[in-house]
Amino acid sequence: MRESEERYQHLVHMLPDGLIVVLEGDIVFANHAMLTMLGISNLDDIIGDPINKFIHSEYLERFPAMINYLIIEANPSTFTYYELLRLDQQTIEVEMRAVAVKFDGKNAVQLIIHDITKQKRMEASLHEKDYLYKSLMENVVAGVFVGQSNKIVYANPYLAEMYGYTLEEMYELTSSDLVSMDEINHHRNEIMHGSAIGLNQFPLKCTGRKKDGSIIYLEGNTSIIMFNGQLSLLGTIQDVTFKREKENLLRDNANLYQKIIKFVPEPIVISDQGIVLYANKLALHALGIEPGKEVIGRSVFEFIHPSHHASSLEQMDLIMSSDEPTSFVERVLVRPDGQLLDVEISSIRINNYLGKDVMLSVIRDLTDRKRSEEVLIRSEKLSAIGQLAAGVAHEIRNPLTALKGFTQLLSSKYPENPHYFSIMANEIDRITLIVNEFMTLAKPHFANYRSEPLEPILRSVLSLLETQAILINVELKVCFDHTRPSIFCNVDQLKQVFLNIIKNALEAMPQGGEVVVTVASLEDGFVHIRIIDGGPGIPEELISKIGEPFLTTKEKGTGLGIMISNRIIEAHKGTLQISSVMNEGTVVEIMLPVEDQLTIGLG
Ligand code: ADP
Ligand code: MG
Repeated sequence: MRESEERYQHLVHMLPDGLIVVLEGDIVFANHAMLTMLGISNLDDIIGDPINKFIHSEYLERFPAMINYLIIEANPSTFTYYELLRLDQQTIEVEMRAVAVKFDGKNAVQLIIHDITKQKRMEASLHEKDYLYKSLMENVVAGVFVGQSNKIVYANPYLAEMYGYTLEEMYELTSSDLVSMDEINHHRNEIMHGSAIGLNQFPLKCTGRKKDGSIIYLEGNTSIIMFNGQLSLLGTIQDVTFKREKENLLRDNANLYQKIIKFVPEPIVISDQGIVLYANKLALHALGIEPGKEVIGRSVFEFIHPSHHASSLEQMDLIMSSDEPTSFVERVLVRPDGQLLDVEISSIRINNYLGKDVMLSVIRDLTDRKRSEEVLIRSEKLSAIGQLAAGVAHEIRNPLTALKGFTQLLSSKYPENPHYFSIMANEIDRITLIVNEFMTLAKPHFANYRSEPLEPILRSVLSLLETQAILINVELKVCFDHTRPSIFCNVDQLKQVFLNIIKNALEAMPQGGEVVVTVASLEDGFVHIRIIDGGPGIPEELISKIGEPFLTTKEKGTGLGIMISNRIIEAHKGTLQISSVMNEGTVVEIMLPVEDQLTIGLG
């Protein structure tokens, strides 16, 4: 008996659950686990203490009921939740059942107590995490879903709202109700390929269909998770419809800009921080970019001469911080073929071009202007020379008259040396000629314009030159058509033109030959006068320069004849053109507007 008693006691002491025996409300036994639970080191410390001392006050009322139940039913109670008080007054949570036992022959109650404090604490923290996740999902400003084989098994309220469904409706839907199946399948493929190379997040871009049938654009991420023991797709998505629409709007805006720029007849380049975003056709042409070659994405500095880089950079800062366009600034551009191009550039900042503040630059090719500036400077110089010459010429003319007179006087006084005097007289004539030409050059007489028939003017010049022609064995032919045009002109000036041109023709033919003058009025309202010679012609490199002052190939030439003729013809609203074939001859064509035509024989 004692042996079995001892074995029992030993067993009881080793039990992991607490065990306590209560007799008439007082503790008569407690096992080792119980003592630890209550924070008591010695069994004797609690023997005789009332059990109520260790029961939390809130549970005291319930405790006798449990005992009574046990006594009435004669059955062990089920485990019931209690809170006990340790010796140090800390609360521990337990589950407790009562069993009727005999102690010292009396009816006692044995309590089996299971400490669940730790378990409770764990449960509580689990709860907290659940709560945390739940509130996260419900408050996050992104749509969150979990899908299992095309069914929605979780959706957060934001997602439902995004689609215009209630959460309940959401759970009834399949993926095909929410997004296009093509896109889903495409995404599945991406996940498969991505997983194979070790990715665990997959960007998602798709179009969704809302409850009201409208389309929304979605962007987000998905990943594979285990949910309720099943492989599932977890996704977070955002409605980017607004962003997409804004992007579209910006693109439309940019297209509009480009359309306008395409239409503007000036080279234009749009750039963002020195990178070309757009260049119209004229700009490509000016930059010498072959069609089909890309400029977009290239640096503008590739096209700006290095000596202008620093100032261009400075200018760029200025442009981007101002609302006003810059004035035109001269720059040298470098084309891909290395050719340099003088341009001037004006730029302005444009806001919101594809969402950015960019720079629009208008380029003006200065080549033509530089050229015409040169011409202008030259003609300025010329008129200055002309005015100077006129002044000087006037001063020279009078002394020349005196010189000529005295030369003639001397020649009659010293008849033994006529040769010298004729040279002197010739040279004085020559000076007089040059001086006279200078004077015409300086002040073309716009006065004395009358309507005059052309034929007599021309014939008088021809008769003037006849002697010279005969001397060098040249036959002077003239050929008028049936019209007899009149020209609104200054007769003296026209005579001078014909004189200059026909003289040149004669001078070109020292070996003799034929000079032909033809006159014909054409439908265009002009009379065409052509002076045709059979001389050596004018070399090509010279022909464009003829008409420049003092350009002459003749030993005794002045190089002013054609220039003066040009001026006079221009003043008469006509044109003078020289064409020539080497070793065949030269044709000078003068066109003058016809004032009045006597249409003899033309009905
Ligand atoms: P100049 O006769 O005093 O030389 P012009 O102005 O009349 O000056 O002519 C300029 C130059 O043009 C001439 O020197 C000559 O070289 C060339 N030229 C003009 N007319 C002819 C022509 N009919 N045939 C060949 N050369 C010509
Ligand atoms: Mg001449």
